[in-house]
Amino acid sequence: MMLRASRSLLSLFVPVALALSACSAEDSQSGLPAEQADEAQPSDPEIEEIGEFVDANEGDVVEVEDGISVRVPPPGNLVAIEVIYDDGNTAVATLVNDAERGVFLVHPDEHLLGLPEGTLAACATKCNENAFSHLYGGDRAKWKSRLDWSYRHNNSPIGKNNAINAFKHAALAIPKQRNTCDLADQSSATQRYLGETTRAPNIIKSGSQISCGEPDGYNVIGWGAIAGGTLAVTCTFATSDGTNTYRIVEADQRYDNSNRSWFAGNTPPNSCNNRFSLRGVATHEFGHAYGLGHTPTQCNQVMAPSVSDCTSKNRKLGRGDVRGVRNLY
Ligand SMILES: [Zn+2]
Repeated sequence: MMLRASRSLLSLFVPVALALSACSAEDSQSGLPAEQADEAQPSDPEIEEIGEFVDANEGDVVEVEDGISVRVPPPGNLVAIEVIYDDGNTAVATLVNDAERGVFLVHPDEHLLGLPEGTLAACATKCNENAFSHLYGGDRAKWKSRLDWSYRHNNSPIGKNNAINAFKHAALAIPKQRNTCDLADQSSATQRYLGETTRAPNIIKSGSQISCGEPDGYNVIGWGAIAGGTLAVTCTFATSDGTNTYRIVEADQRYDNSNRSWFAGNTPPNSCNNRFSLRGVATHEFGHAYGLGHTPTQCNQVMAPSVSDCTSKNRKLGRGDVRGVRNLY
């Protein structure tokens, strides 16, 4: 059963002031505000109650964006899908089956800034940005165990060693907090590369529709044709354990192999045109896999809501990215 999420069903949107407060009270050791660990943990029920209710049941497939669908998970679970298009723009949606409140859909990016449509915030420099957000927009979702991942090389447009090295780089960038701002690694997140697999990432293409499949407990990165104009997709599955922090149980990533969209090294090729850093885009996708949402501003952070071609700057985190990782881990 395919359902189309209606934006008019019910709107309970409350702007989520996720770590948008001005920088103050710098911690002289970390260079981060001392209160940063608390400021992005919404405790007010009103703030958690973001999104729109969807008249759907477990197992129904709900179209959350044009061409992007999510299967309603069992009660107490959520599924987040994030897509990067080949113009560098992104879309993210989280479908929550709350055991008490029912099914609702969150588009966290719509409320990051609370600015009038078409207005962009001024760009802070990469190491001067404080803002970050969570993938789910309201409650947090994070790994409470190690993220063990596998790689499927089938259909890759890139040589195996180059591809594996790029994904290894990306998988480590978040837990190691690899950044350009000389901020120390204070993260408790861990990961492990398990090697190659024949299992496909849990992301399904059916006609022009992309959807997150049923979670199978394996975190797989792989390649395949995605719907036209799409560069990469990440599906993140999480379950409630009774606290206000969901536990991420699976994350899958699928990268487009339908054209030569990528470069795998640390620097763009000569005469680069419309090609994206695999290391940078994969670092962004791993950010979602670890539970990060998009940075409210359009620029400079790895987790910004758009990525640029022919640059590899986004293979290293900025200050807002680091703050987001530290907030979760
Ligand atoms: Zn993203």
